Amino acid sequence: MSIGLKLSGYKKAAKDKLISIYNKPKYVYIPLINCNDVDITVLVKKGDYVLKGAHVGKRKGKIKFPIISTVSGTVIDFVNMPYLNGEEVKCVKIENDFKEKSIENKVVNKIDKKTFLNILQDNSILGMGGAGFPTYIKYSTEKINKLLINAVECEPYITADYVLLKEHTEEILEAIDMIMDINKIDEAFIAVKKTNIELLKVLNNYIGTYLKIKIKEVPNLYPIGWERSLIKEIYNTSYDKFPTEKNIVVNNVSTIFAIYEALKYNKPLTERVVTFTGNIVKKPKNILVKVGSTATDVIKEMLGKEKLKDFNLIAGGPMMGTLSDNDLVITSNLTCVLIMDKQFERGTECMKCGKCVDVCPVKLTPVLIKNSLNNMERLKELQADRCMECGLCSYICPAKLPIREYVKEAKDKIKRGEEV
Ligand code: SF4
Ligand code: SF4
Repeated sequence: MSIGLKLSGYKKAAKDKLISIYNKPKYVYIPLINCNDVDITVLVKKGDYVLKGAHVGKRKGKIKFPIISTVSGTVIDFVNMPYLNGEEVKCVKIENDFKEKSIENKVVNKIDKKTFLNILQDNSILGMGGAGFPTYIKYSTEKINKLLINAVECEPYITADYVLLKEHTEEILEAIDMIMDINKIDEAFIAVKKTNIELLKVLNNYIGTYLKIKIKEVPNLYPIGWERSLIKEIYNTSYDKFPTEKNIVVNNVSTIFAIYEALKYNKPLTERVVTFTGNIVKKPKNILVKVGSTATDVIKEMLGKEKLKDFNLIAGGPMMGTLSDNDLVITSNLTCVLIMDKQFERGTECMKCGKCVDVCPVKLTPVLIKNSLNNMERLKELQADRCMECGLCSYICPAKLPIREYVKEAKDKIKRGEEV
């Protein structure tokens, strides 16, 4: 039986419009981070001129992943800026010269597996719906026999992948076909919510010529789009750390489109579609944004007419997002910027109703974790580090307690090995 809750979508307003474009930030801020790893070798200094796609930093250690400039221009500073995890991260500040001068990327016609991995790595292609895991690492697994495209987008408000798949159906199907061919994968599924009738219609119109790609309809439940839930739902299997243990690679729609542009044009990942929406936004939009822009600049330019003020900005959706500063930097793995009014309901006392326990998809006891924040041994026993940060416990709590934040705090403490 599928696990999860049916949530209101709040997606309609942004779904029905074409993708808008914001590509003119005066400055971009390129965060020196990948997958929460800030141990980065900086490859530029103040005054350097950089081309679009140039490597400005590189992860140290085993995973050699480049961090790239998304414009051509001059490095003018190194500053700390708000990142989607709620923390400040050191960024390379680049003044855009608006010339869009790119590094010379030769298009490769015959792509074997080795070239494929190099193209993904050099163009900084990463998972665009989560922590930003480098995509070439996933595909480095020796034997992959299943490709799963996650087009579920189960969190309310977010429609970035929906509009991208609707506007670029042919390119995305072509990319899946190319990936299957290069990696010798026999079977690919595109997972779509069965209630997403428009998307199913569009896909069914094009998929006929791609005999190895199939559509899989999944229930309209949250968090069915979470990688573990989706794999359980589709393949009825589970894994320890990564789906590749079961020879499965999962990519979301935005990542597949970035792979398409890298394979076809050797184009680095310098922009992405982000949903700008929220309960005070009258005309939500899906906007193709230059990575490294700030949310404030995009809002001023693209939603300026709405005269938005006194709002809370959330990096991500309402369930998994993090309250952020207005200068939040748009990164390749940020799906949504949520603009909400400031009237949060205040939490009261825990009513010991147990609803947070019933709803947790990974079978944790959020209320006990909250009460054990000062006891590391107990936090470990309660396995707080297994929390997937879905936010269902906060959503269901009748006392309006921010339970997810407590569990996240516990999880972070365990990960840091902090003595409490
Ligand atoms: S404890 Fe974590 S995984 Fe469980 S419902 Fe809360 S946020 Fe989701
Ligand atoms: S759902 Fe809220 S009120 Fe109920 S036990 Fe959990 S924390 Fe307490």
